[in-house]
Amino acid sequence: MDKDLKNLTPERLQRLVEMFGQKAFQAGYLFTFIHQKGAADLDQITPLPKDFRHALRARGYVISTLTLRQQYADPDGTRKFAFDLPGGSRIETVCLRDGDRNTVCLSTQAGCRMGCVFCATGQLPFDRNLTAAEIVDQVYQVRSHCGAVHNVVYMGMGEPLDNLDAVMRSAALLNDENGANIGIRHITLSTCGLPAAIGTLAACDLRPRLAVSLHAPDDATRRKLMPVARKYPIDSIIAALRDYQRQTARRITVEYCLARAINDSDTHANRLVARLKGLKVNVNLIELNPFTGCPYEASPPKRIKAFAEVLKNAGLETAIRYRRGRRIQAACGQLGATQIKHP
Ligand code: SAH
Ligand code: SF4
Repeated sequence: MDKDLKNLTPERLQRLVEMFGQKAFQAGYLFTFIHQKGAADLDQITPLPKDFRHALRARGYVISTLTLRQQYADPDGTRKFAFDLPGGSRIETVCLRDGDRNTVCLSTQAGCRMGCVFCATGQLPFDRNLTAAEIVDQVYQVRSHCGAVHNVVYMGMGEPLDNLDAVMRSAALLNDENGANIGIRHITLSTCGLPAAIGTLAACDLRPRLAVSLHAPDDATRRKLMPVARKYPIDSIIAALRDYQRQTARRITVEYCLARAINDSDTHANRLVARLKGLKVNVNLIELNPFTGCPYEASPPKRIKAFAEVLKNAGLETAIRYRRGRRIQAACGQLGATQIKHP
């Protein structure tokens, strides 16, 4: 059995408590203290009988916490937190503030196996998947510095659907009303488009919102940006999205990062419209955020606006997402940029 109590669902905690011959309601204390109050040590769970706490510790049970190494604050209100993992890797988490609402952008892996050329995380060596505990602890640590968290987006380092079990478990933990109590519609998973995992997600009972990083309307263009496009043609992703929508009737967000003279012409925009026909989507256009070693540049603002116009005129709900947290390298695609080893 998993010895990290932060990884355990209420049901698993229940079984654990029974295994120790304790009353079932002790599982409730464990869950609430770990996930709602942010307890980092068994001794902070004061309602638990002392001998039960000792027994848990003697059997190797712990409450893991990430080690906060550094904090950064951008004048635009964005904050970034860097954590060290036990194995030595570093992950980053971002808190975006809108009025009095906080959105936390979570990492799901140390590094990423997808290797997108325009993304700093993609240039790092892949180390490992994060556990559900390591994913939710990012929220709890940000909460302790920035206050209540209203929205969670899995858009930090890593590909969430490449670590689906831990990601889904973390979403359930965050959603639990005895924990952080974040509404499932306030949780968004962003994927580079792994068709089989999109199918698995469609069949889940507790399903966060889905965002798909398309970035191109055709395979040739997409391959310039994302090596994963060689494995999964756009047709296979669109087919998975159609099935997803047939099963769930949920709107999907399409993310499209604009790189100058790569994927930003009106022709690309028109092709994108054709590709998305029949799907219920909203499109987020993202200005490419540069980092040292990034082979592409951002599209000029005028081009982004013109691209957006084509989509809007075709009836697609479209928004332009401007850079936030760029000065502290906390914007989309910049996480891990300082760890890249340049030759
Ligand atoms: N791996 C997932 C989620 C993390 S990346 C995914 O790819 O969807 C979050 C978003 O940032 C994705 O849409 C990704 O394409 C985008 N992104 C990556 N690098 C970027 C960059 N340099 N500028 C702007 N957006 C970028
Ligand atoms: Fe990984 Fe997403 Fe970055 Fe691609 S864009 S390398 S999938 S984190």
